[in-house]
Amino acid sequence: MISRGRHQKGDVAAALDRAQAVGFKVEPDKNGHRWGWVICCTCGDKQYVSGTPKSPSTEAKKIDQFVRKHRH
Ligand SMILES: [Zn+2]
Repeated sequence: MISRGRHQKGDVAAALDRAQAVGFKVEPDKNGHRWGWVICCTCGDKQYVSGTPKSPSTEAKKIDQFVRKHRH
């Protein structure tokens, strides 16, 4: 069983772990194709996380880019 709150795509789950490790908030908020959000605790900006990405590696890169952009 997949643990609650963990993304089912390994690449995306790893990117979410990396974001969390550097202080970002990861908020599961499932609704349709949406899995949830990565939230910058400094400025409150949010990155959408798809639950059904066409390419998990591209989705993971988007999360990494958001994290890099928000190292305030
Ligand atoms: Zn920010």
